[in-house]
Amino acid sequence: MSDLVKLTLAQAKKALNDKKISSVELTQAYIAEMEKNRNLNAYVLETPDIALKQAKISDEKYAKNTAGALEGIPMGIKDLFCTKGIRTTACSHILDGFVPPYESTVTQKLLDAGINILGKLNMDEFAMGGSNETSYYGPVVNPWKAKNSDAPLVAGGSSGGSAAAVAAHMCVAATGTDTGGSIRQPSAFCGVTGIKPTYGRCSRYGIVAFASSLDQAGPIAQNVEDCALLLNVMAGYDAKDSTSSQKEVPDFSAVLRQDIKGLKVGVPAEFRPDGLNAEIAACWDKGLQMLKDRGAEIINISLPHTKYALATYYIIAPAEASSNLARYDGLRYGLRVNGAHLDDMYTNSRTEGFGREVKRRIMIGTYVLSAGYYDAYYLKAQKVRRLIRNDFLEAFKKCDVILTPTAPTGAFPIGDKSMLENPINMWLNDVFTVSVSLAGLPALSLPAGLSGEGLPLGLQIIGRAFDEETVFKAASALENDICFVRK
Ligand code: GLN
Repeated sequence: MSDLVKLTLAQAKKALNDKKISSVELTQAYIAEMEKNRNLNAYVLETPDIALKQAKISDEKYAKNTAGALEGIPMGIKDLFCTKGIRTTACSHILDGFVPPYESTVTQKLLDAGINILGKLNMDEFAMGGSNETSYYGPVVNPWKAKNSDAPLVAGGSSGGSAAAVAAHMCVAATGTDTGGSIRQPSAFCGVTGIKPTYGRCSRYGIVAFASSLDQAGPIAQNVEDCALLLNVMAGYDAKDSTSSQKEVPDFSAVLRQDIKGLKVGVPAEFRPDGLNAEIAACWDKGLQMLKDRGAEIINISLPHTKYALATYYIIAPAEASSNLARYDGLRYGLRVNGAHLDDMYTNSRTEGFGREVKRRIMIGTYVLSAGYYDAYYLKAQKVRRLIRNDFLEAFKKCDVILTPTAPTGAFPIGDKSMLENPINMWLNDVFTVSVSLAGLPALSLPAGLSGEGLPLGLQIIGRAFDEETVFKAASALENDICFVRK
């Protein structure tokens, strides 16, 4: 492996600035790594020619001293982001061959800052899943393996390709999206860092919609500093997304390595159910102790409606998905399977185009929105969502951030029957992430240690709405003390 691909984003940026390396060299090193690691199935489309063309332009900008904030940095883009002229499928058969005529706002901001695009990253179909096994292009293989076993493990989902590509040095950093945990959980499974910002922080324009009141874009990167550098660029108001926030974007890197003495760290009792995996509980306790040793105050809090979070999420997310996915009719984009009549064409295209999990969500969503069930399910879920949000508002009167595990397990084997045959088991894996999404809050996952099997475990730091700064501050302190050794 070339040493170039071991550089963090901050280091690569410095080396480029100091003209020690060129973007073309850096990009070539990543292209070689992508080729070597094709077995991981992290990329569904490689775009080396585009990356090199952009890298050349970056090198010219460095020569002319007009380099942008992320000039010359090679990145992978989750296949949920529309990229102008580059195939975008949300890893669904129904978007076969779709080439967007426009660029998502987030990727446009990254491009304007100077990144180059190495390719599109694998993900669960329409971001529905927690193991990257619902992708039309097949599962992503986690670069980590358990001790004493050669079984391929899931990379987590839905941003499995993003997390695996960062972990395996196949890009400096990647974009992800998170609706109920899809940045945080794969980051935890692959031993990398990811942040889901506050809902509204990043524009959703040009991101294929799953559940519009929950979807948020965010970075997946090698460490906390890199995430901060990326979010600085990705965030900000966009007139093209009516839910994007007009709040000013602070410099997230400015708070790194600051003193956290006196920081109030909440520990929710409901996140420690009986039967919580002992290694995960121990990893959590260790993290709390580290913060305490730095002078943080640990405060017991309660989020009493946590037990309803999964049920609420798995009503609201499918409801919104069923509405969003109504647009795929075989007429406008992607796959078309003809039939004798127009209705047959719709049916045939959707039958063939959508995978099982997507169909399940459409069915659930349609059901909870139908007359007679709307009040009992959808409306009730909206009310419980408010209670979940209120729990956090109450808790944040007592603390500044909340520390929890990111997921109740580490990475599990691809094809694990207990997960695949019973979708509820897969959904249970989202238990620590969905309430944060329902409340619209920012949360970062960072690698916190290894399980007995030698697999990465993640800790989640949750913040107040639009207070990513305190999340970054706490994360930076914790990261420094954990000293996680990357792959
Ligand atoms: N695993 C969750 C789901 O399947 C979350 C997915 C996501 O955040 N995109 O819905």
